Amino acid sequence: MKPKETKICARCGRPFTNRKQWASRGIWPQVKYCSNRCRHGAK
Ligand SMILES: [Zn+2]
Repeated sequence: MKPKETKICARCGRPFTNRKQWASRGIWPQVKYCSNRCRHGAK
């Protein structure tokens, strides 16, 4: 079985897993943030 694809968000420091929208676009290797909110630097 595949290990779960997990990363730590570069902003909030929480672990998150791959998402369909990332997997389908093939951008998972580039994803650094858990959500759009973190990606855009919401305060
Ligand atoms: Zn985050």
